[in-house]
Amino acid sequence: MPRIKQKKTDPTNGVKESGFSNRLRSVLWKIPGLTVWRQNSGKMMVRDEETGIKRRFDGAPKGAADITGILAPEGIRVEIEANGKRGKMRPEQIQWAVRIQNAGGLYLYAPMFKDRHANESVSYWKMALEDLIAQRRKGVE
Ligand SMILES: [Mg+2]
Repeated sequence: MPRIKQKKTDPTNGVKESGFSNRLRSVLWKIPGLTVWRQNSGKMMVRDEETGIKRRFDGAPKGAADITGILAPEGIRVEIEANGKRGKMRPEQIQWAVRIQNAGGLYLYAPMFKDRHANESVSYWKMALEDLIAQRRKGVE
């Protein structure tokens, strides 16, 4: 009897943290008044594509969220930490979340759900951010 190989199914469709973060960022652009961009944190070596010269890149402080932005018309800073399926908030990320919130910004921790297609996680966290914005505007949050 030939053994039937059990096909491993990945509900997230193999989407990794960076893919999830990119999808989420592009969807968040649809929220009226919100401008978002990618935020790299920490120090790293980068090579200039045109000159080939290597240089040190000093990114945002350690723990800063993957996605950052600004909400119009209030000018509220918005930070979203996108995490892969096995992701967990690191202590420096928690400190950053507190810092942003204490400064009056909005912070959202958005981990990918391991039992759902990545797009479902994206839709869920977009709604969560819309809710957070609505609460802030109502003066609840
Ligand atoms: Mg992350």
